[in-house]
Amino acid sequence: MEPFKIKAVESIPFSTRSERESALREAGYNLFNIPARLITIDLLTDSGTSAMSDRQWAGLMVGDESYAGSRNYFRFEDTVRRITGYKHVIPMHQGRVAENLLFSNCVRPGDHVPNNIHFDTTRANIEHNGGKAVDCVIAEAYDPLAEVPFKGNMDLAKLDRVLSEVGRHKIPLVLLTITNNSGGGQPVSLENAQQVSEWCRKNDIPFFYDACRFAENAFFAKTRSNLGSSIPQIVRQFFDLADGCTMSAKKDGLVNMGGFLALNDGEMKDKVTNMLILIEGFPTYGGLAGRDLEAMAQGLEEVLDERYLEHRIGQVRDFGEALCSGGVPVLLPIGGHAVYLDARRFLPHIPQDQFPAQALTCALYLEGGIRGVEIGGLMFGTDANWPALELVRLAVPRRVYTRSHLEYVAKVASTLYQRRDSIGGLRITFEAQVLRHFTARLEPLP
Ligand SMILES: *Cc1c(COP(=O)(O)O)cnc(C)c1O
Repeated sequence: MEPFKIKAVESIPFSTRSERESALREAGYNLFNIPARLITIDLLTDSGTSAMSDRQWAGLMVGDESYAGSRNYFRFEDTVRRITGYKHVIPMHQGRVAENLLFSNCVRPGDHVPNNIHFDTTRANIEHNGGKAVDCVIAEAYDPLAEVPFKGNMDLAKLDRVLSEVGRHKIPLVLLTITNNSGGGQPVSLENAQQVSEWCRKNDIPFFYDACRFAENAFFAKTRSNLGSSIPQIVRQFFDLADGCTMSAKKDGLVNMGGFLALNDGEMKDKVTNMLILIEGFPTYGGLAGRDLEAMAQGLEEVLDERYLEHRIGQVRDFGEALCSGGVPVLLPIGGHAVYLDARRFLPHIPQDQFPAQALTCALYLEGGIRGVEIGGLMFGTDANWPALELVRLAVPRRVYTRSHLEYVAKVASTLYQRRDSIGGLRITFEAQVLRHFTARLEPLP
């Protein structure tokens, strides 16, 4: 059961089918263009969509809005140091700023940066500095039905290959994303992180985590490897293996906005804080209000509660299992923050150039007011090159929806599955040059 009770409630919007029909038409069959007031269950993302606790809300009232040296900064710094063990803690307003400031101070044109799978902002920030983002995840990560416990693990042989191709001086750092968001929210084992750490030490290359879902990853590590230690201890074992981390607190920080960079290297810290002052603000607030730092510190403590994590991971798993028992094809195993519908198996009659995953996203909205996001041909496809997978991601916000909300989604999806033959394909009527999925407009094929 939920390890919390509800103190404030927010009504969710309901709409009629004909309202949703016209909303879809006006939105050009792109759910990014639909206003939230017309969405009943919003599973677009788990980023920045968490519900804060009573203690986080109370923390907003003890915000110290001093320009320099705010009391909340010191609590935040102390909390991150205690959790990660890293010496320097630099607040920022979200994760991609940490990526931008770290990479612009270490990635040079021609450099290669390995990761299990780079998240899209991570990849973009590396490429913006002239580097090449290389994915080195194990091969099973690309098989939607391979049920391995740590599908986010790094393949050390792929790391060796990058090293022998470009040499150690062209690898400014190695990243490891926990959990592996772009690979389906799949965890990395402690053993694998140890191997990556040893590899980096041996080759004298800095090692950083992309730590957005570090607590969810630690819970998987504990339960799937039968580790005897507590969640904070396991988290610390992971962090002790690396030199620092970038963090979007919009995920496991349980806040609506926030992030940080934490690291041991004092020289790098100085470079980053100089640029931080230029673009985000003074190093004791980094683009956030004092009250935001307080809420983030509190959220980082709450996320380590094992009962919370058991509920969180269990809720996503139960949601996935409800979909499976309704016959709906999903990506396996079910990850930490989302369930991914496999649109190729759901709509085998729609060819990839008619955007089956986007058609399924629209059908879920039309049928039940549910918003997911397409991760397939609309997001990644070009005339010459189509992605291997056509997915619809249903991301679960933290502490926001109850079991019955997700049962409703599973029911809508299985109803749709029963009459899947009635769902048709789409074609694009407008697209932007880059990141077209955000603004594209489409229409149903006749
Ligand atoms: C969300 C996310 C980021 C970027 O963080 P923002 O707060 O959205 O800027 C980076 N890496 C991963 C794995 C993420 O999930």
